[in-house]
Amino acid sequence: MSDSFRALRLNKNDDGQSHEFVELTENDLMEGDVTITVSHSTLNYKDGLALTGASPVVRVWPMIPGIDFAGTVEKSSHADFKEGDDVILNGWGVGETHFGGYAGKARVKGDWLVKRPAAISAAQSMAIGTAGYTAMLCVMALADTSTDAGEILVTGAAGGVGSVALALLSKMGYQAVASTGRKEEEAYLTSLGAARVIDRNSLSEKGRPLDKEQWAGVVDAVGSHTLANAIAQTKYGGTVAACGLAQGPDLPATVMPFILRGVTLAGIDSVMAPREKREAAWAQLAEHLDLDKLDAMSSQATLDDLPALGEKILAGQTRGRLIVTL
Ligand code: NDP
Repeated sequence: MSDSFRALRLNKNDDGQSHEFVELTENDLMEGDVTITVSHSTLNYKDGLALTGASPVVRVWPMIPGIDFAGTVEKSSHADFKEGDDVILNGWGVGETHFGGYAGKARVKGDWLVKRPAAISAAQSMAIGTAGYTAMLCVMALADTSTDAGEILVTGAAGGVGSVALALLSKMGYQAVASTGRKEEEAYLTSLGAARVIDRNSLSEKGRPLDKEQWAGVVDAVGSHTLANAIAQTKYGGTVAACGLAQGPDLPATVMPFILRGVTLAGIDSVMAPREKREAAWAQLAEHLDLDKLDAMSSQATLDDLPALGEKILAGQTRGRLIVTL
């Protein structure tokens, strides 16, 4: 059929989860007031969880995964969007409870969409993706931290959130310190703007409730002992933006850094963030993200590569960001 498009679909039955590549038509899409021709998507950690079934990210079956997409509006009955508008979608349960970005077309609520800033191409917007937009939300949470207050720690630095956070922080004039388990990525992390690189093992074991004050602020994508140690090492009055759980969802910390040093723990959620905050984040990404650095941290993939790449991102074997061309 001429209006058919290709999609990656996840199925689940008594034998477990499986994937297939299917040809669909618009009639197969879910409810929504805007239909989009999807040009690009990406792979985030959460997409890895959905693709492999390692965590119950997908809650409606069958599902087209992909929590992000970029594309052009084909049809719209939403007041804010018209045919030809270039749009971005991040989160809102897309790829979890509503068909997502791993398909040639998508239909969603217009309220979930953000207009793509002119300075950022569709491919670049997916190189940013939820990971990069979350990095921006983390950096926005550090807005009260002056650039001469000291070093900002970035954990999970060679991953998607970490890579974009490093590029943003260095462009904005901060001294960013990259914590990584991949020493071989030191040159990459320095090229993104890390002032220095530390071994993540120095943060990943149980530490002291209060440690030597080192960080003016923190962007943490890792959680668990790493986050607890980062909090314990944050300087008086500093802010720790917590967005991830690559090491674990636990937080084996004490209240001491909060009550003795006035440290702030800022929780970062990208999925249900209100539209105004998203628009502010995308406007700041357009202003502050060095697109040459973004290109340097991005690699390309197709729909067919995604099942294998889902395994790799969970194993910590992908670097930076991945652009999926539909
Ligand atoms: P990536 O897999 O690209 O990056 C995660 C990085 O964490 C890895 O590259 C690795 O960095 C580090 N890491 C992995 N395993 C461990 C471990 N056991 N101990 C310490 N460090 C580890 O994922 P993303 O950047 O896309 O996402 C990062 C985290 O943020 C995820 O947990 C994700 O779920 C979360 N997230 C949350 C969002 C929100 O709305 N709150 C939105 C987007 C992501 P290195 O090799 O440098 O050590």
